[in-house]
Amino acid sequence: MLNIFDDAEWRNDALCASTDDPFMYLNFFEDDNELARRFCVGCKVREECLEYAFRSNQPYGIYGGLDERERRKAKRKKPHLREAYIAEILAPYA
Ligand code: SF4
Repeated sequence: MLNIFDDAEWRNDALCASTDDPFMYLNFFEDDNELARRFCVGCKVREECLEYAFRSNQPYGIYGGLDERERRKAKRKKPHLREAYIAEILAPYA
């Protein structure tokens, strides 16, 4: 199981944090979801980010390349998240 709450160091590797635009960091993408998704595809902490969104019930925005509707759909399928399922969810979005 990923340890997303006790150790948020994964955020240091967030690709969206590498831009000069502070509004790009971790989900400030709401005006341009497609731009956000392009960042997420190349991000090495995508699984951690998506799991964070699931476990903290983030209601809006793009996390790990999935918007809120896609996250709700994935969670309905398997409400008890497992690390392997996170990777399974992301596979079609690679
Ligand atoms: S997956 Fe996307 S939103 Fe999450 S940290 Fe990476 S680039 Fe940012």
